[in-house]
Amino acid sequence: MDIKSENKEKTTRNFLEEIIENDLQEGKVETIHTRFPPEPNGYLHIGHAKSICLNFGLAKKYGGKTNLRFDDTNPVKEDTEYVDSIKEDINWLGFSWAEEHYASDYFDQLYLWAIELIKKGLAYVDDQSLEEIRLNRGTVQTPGKNSPYRDRTIEENLRLFNEMKQGKYADGEKVLRAKIDMSNNNMNFRDPIMYRIIHTTHHRTGNKWCIYPMYDYAHGESDSIENITHSICTLEFDIHRPLYDWFIKQLGIFPSHQYEFARLNITYTVMSKRKLLQLVKENYVSGWDDPRMPTICGLRRRGYTSESIRNFCEDIGVAKRDNLIDYGRLEFALREDLNKRANRVMAVLNPIKLVIDNYDENVQEELEAVNNPEDETKGMRKISFSNTLYIERDDFMENPPKKYFRLSIGNEVRLRYAYFVKCVSIEKDDVGNVTVVHCTYDPLSKGGNSPDGRKVKGTIHWVNAKDCIESEVRLFDRLFKEELPDKVEDGKTFLDNINPDSLKVLKHCKMEKCLKDVTPLQKFQFERLGYFSVDYDSKQDNIVFNRCCTLKETWNKN
Ligand code: ATP
Ligand code: MG
Repeated sequence: MDIKSENKEKTTRNFLEEIIENDLQEGKVETIHTRFPPEPNGYLHIGHAKSICLNFGLAKKYGGKTNLRFDDTNPVKEDTEYVDSIKEDINWLGFSWAEEHYASDYFDQLYLWAIELIKKGLAYVDDQSLEEIRLNRGTVQTPGKNSPYRDRTIEENLRLFNEMKQGKYADGEKVLRAKIDMSNNNMNFRDPIMYRIIHTTHHRTGNKWCIYPMYDYAHGESDSIENITHSICTLEFDIHRPLYDWFIKQLGIFPSHQYEFARLNITYTVMSKRKLLQLVKENYVSGWDDPRMPTICGLRRRGYTSESIRNFCEDIGVAKRDNLIDYGRLEFALREDLNKRANRVMAVLNPIKLVIDNYDENVQEELEAVNNPEDETKGMRKISFSNTLYIERDDFMENPPKKYFRLSIGNEVRLRYAYFVKCVSIEKDDVGNVTVVHCTYDPLSKGGNSPDGRKVKGTIHWVNAKDCIESEVRLFDRLFKEELPDKVEDGKTFLDNINPDSLKVLKHCKMEKCLKDVTPLQKFQFERLGYFSVDYDSKQDNIVFNRCCTLKETWNKN
């Protein structure tokens, strides 16, 4: 390798790759083992996709493996519906996990370790209410106060903890806390709660348990059980790291290590599962997979490919500081990918009739069109042409301004793949709306080529009115009006920032007949209009297309 390319390789390595390469080189670890630990309390969103690409990507790059672990330690909000959707989405993104685990599978082991900590004098049962515990924790400036129950004997703690497990106490009556230091500068060290009582049926363990471990206690221990070498999480957990290490050290178990990176934030959307759930429950959207949602299933339905999402995650990189990514970058990744893979077709969303007066009304001609100029292997297709076509209503103007190069009386344009046509007259209805645009065509301009070097400035798309099909088209705008929907004044919520016009449904759009047998998630470029994906609601007699994105960046120009 020459020096130049070596340098280049170095600069493109992110900080996690550097850490891992170092650990491998120094023999700190033999192989790397990461995990993706979703809580099954909602559907995955684009932020999770970032974490998935990172965890699975690093393991793949360095020949290691990645576990999927459901962090199901809170029975109140969790459900198997979410477990299933999470697995589907990870697979769809193109990743497969080495092992599938559930934190709830470790409840027995975690319980035994808790007893071990009690026996070492490092944990105690506290009878204070959660409110009292919160108040006595102190603040960043002031130390906390020891609980009056802090000095219980080991025997009493063992007995009470066992009784907590047996169901003798109501929710909130007692907790198990680690006994560390109520005046530590790191608030997480002020006797953190390890277990709380929740009398709720768990989606996997049923009614076996009524005590549930807290994240800080369960997470590191679960990593350790699975021999996770690099436990990657988002920045807000950095102040939890010392506690993560503390538990592992006191128990003397496999030394997993935690590393933090900046969570992904994107403009014009929200990414907390709680808020996404609220959008679904309160019917602001049609479901978790509404094409306006930032969920993986919503993006899929919108027309995102897994490649485009992976490319986006790669492209934005891995940061150590919080940042905000422009929504346009997500769309850019989609546009780039669909440009390569989507066949071009013609569709007219807001039709007006165009009649060619000098074209034989009994003739239907077959013309040829390129399926994808970016990919020769996609070949050509036949498109039919007749004297009666549909064009977009806004491709004709009765009183055009200067520099309007599309159709107007006396003006000539190219019909894509077909002929030059010149507008000669129009028909109107009783209220003055144009109903038909009459043209003449130049037979010598077949294929859209100029017969004599004369130029036309405008090229418009069209479909044959005699054999086109009709469909429904859904156009989307951003779901929120504000760049930062979460940033609200007092008394308002993110719901006040919802864009009321984020969905527009067009019926009776006219499409090339080649689209008559499409199936959900098939993607096309409608020439001049954008990329479109077939929606799940599509039926043979009512095809529905979702606009994935426009052809050019329009997002920031509104
Ligand atoms: P939310 O706040 O949306 O509910 P969460 O962090 O509670 O998210 P988890 O199911 O606990 O959701 O997350 C699983 C993994 O995904 C965690 O490792 C978490 O750090 C990561 N993750 C969640 N949101 C993001 C994000 N916006 N960017 C990067 N990683 C994320
Ligand atoms: Mg979480």
